[in-house]
Amino acid sequence: MKDFAEIARDLVPLFHVARTGKPRSVKGCFDKARAYFREHGLAFNPMGCGNKKTGLPGWYRPTGCGENGSCPSDCPYLDDDSGDEKGGCYARIVGSPVERQARRASVDPAATAHSFIACALISLIHFGAPHRALVSGDLCLDDKIDPALLVALILASHAVQSALQTDADTAYLYTHTALPEASRSLLKAAGIAVLRSDRLEPGAAIVYPLDDLASLRQAHPETRLVECPAFRKGATCRSCRLCPRAQDLEICIVLDPHGQKERQVAETARAMH
Ligand code: SF4
Repeated sequence: MKDFAEIARDLVPLFHVARTGKPRSVKGCFDKARAYFREHGLAFNPMGCGNKKTGLPGWYRPTGCGENGSCPSDCPYLDDDSGDEKGGCYARIVGSPVERQARRASVDPAATAHSFIACALISLIHFGAPHRALVSGDLCLDDKIDPALLVALILASHAVQSALQTDADTAYLYTHTALPEASRSLLKAAGIAVLRSDRLEPGAAIVYPLDDLASLRQAHPETRLVECPAFRKGATCRSCRLCPRAQDLEICIVLDPHGQKERQVAETARAMH
């Protein structure tokens, strides 16, 4: 079985056209990565080029709680398995593109790490930016943070840095888990920025109606709340890159409720903060 370092080393030349040495298109890179994983019998989770808002490669984990889910049971947006009504999680809207990808994903740390390697390489080669890790799901297995997954992510990130001979950050992600500060520091040292979701604190991100941001700022002057520029200023995560630096800048990012369950998400967010 190939280790992460070998996989990253194998993928870099596949992401370039042999004749010219230039990078393939983002889609061409993903095609090559999937073919490589299949050829070598390596499991991988769904991954793709990102949406209009992010503009960055990303991969998916299964939603829900339990042995086949990766979310913590206390996530405020988690609903029951029918995917209807309650929380408003954008990755649980049955039949939506994100939900379809999340449904095909597994909790296997190796499958997650393989997709991490492909997305991180493609993002750094094409955009010089860390990729958007963990588009759906979270860091858990059976409602507890999965230590094997954290180790796999750290090793995968180091493999990417080594293959590209860089110490650049490789990824950023959001989590609803109470990730211990020591684990967060280890991930950060490996080039993975972790933002706590729905916490009004530096290095976190919340969803809250931007029209009401002034009153939230008044109520919480101790926290520097910074509006995500994707909603009113037309930025993408690829051009903005604030989230990966939220911890260093000691800011809390505020995203406008979005997606098909926008109203429900806004209600949940108002009740929370
Ligand atoms: S603040 Fe920037 S990086 Fe973060 S979600 Fe918004 S556009 Fe993306």
